[in-house]
Amino acid sequence: MKPGLTVKPYPYKPRSVGGYDVEIKIKYSGICGADIHAIKNDWSNSTYPIVTGHEIVGKVATVGEKVTKFKEGDLVGVGQPTRGGFADAIHVEDSYVHIIPESLNPVYAPPLMCAGLTVFTPMLRKGIKKANRVGIVGIGGLGHLAIQFPSALGAEAIAFSHSSNKREQSLELDEINAVSHIFNYLFVTPSGQIVLLALPKGTMTFHVGELIWPEVSISGSLLRGRKYVDKTLEFAAKHNIRPMIECFPLCKINKAPKYVDSGKPRYCVVLESD
Ligand SMILES: [Zn+2]
Repeated sequence: MKPGLTVKPYPYKPRSVGGYDVEIKIKYSGICGADIHAIKNDWSNSTYPIVTGHEIVGKVATVGEKVTKFKEGDLVGVGQPTRGGFADAIHVEDSYVHIIPESLNPVYAPPLMCAGLTVFTPMLRKGIKKANRVGIVGIGGLGHLAIQFPSALGAEAIAFSHSSNKREQSLELDEINAVSHIFNYLFVTPSGQIVLLALPKGTMTFHVGELIWPEVSISGSLLRGRKYVDKTLEFAAKHNIRPMIECFPLCKINKAPKYVDSGKPRYCVVLESD
């Protein structure tokens, strides 16, 4: 129960199922980069014991008497801000629960509810459309999903990566232009927008003039809003947008965080219940 990559069982007695609660038997749970930052205390705001796991998919086991949108047996997902995915079951208020579309294999749903939501939400908010060119910097958990959405919106995706072996994967993931070499600058056309999605350690520095003269703007985007979760799941299901995943059985949970932290997974790790 201290900063690091080792997790331990944390038995507790859950609250009884309230009127608006849904009890979900967890089948799949994604391990997010944010989970790793949190358990390592990379953001210096973790308190221990810490419970993580916010990409949760499973079947409804019980519903409270006031729940009308879900019933026993429904395949559902729960994303941010809920915690507790690395468990057998979870009780959560119905407003945080989403139906997983039938045409989507549920094993793909956990990363879509977090990484997929993170990259697709700003594309919807910015109104990405035909003839837009969308540059994706970094092909990892977020980027490999981000390069799949623009073409489904009629736009063009261009991937930027330090690693040449990701060029082939980028091309496989979508019909895109992959620019794969070490680069020092990202040139954005006048009035272009840079949207920051990941939250690494450290800071960014730049000269203000680099933004003023070309009228380039920088903004951040945080996943939020249940309508965007539903839109992401439905859009991904319809356009066959899928994360690349590697599965671990839940009993191997102590191997998974170290593996995710190593940067080796291609690209998302999903725990499957035993
Ligand atoms: Zn996440």
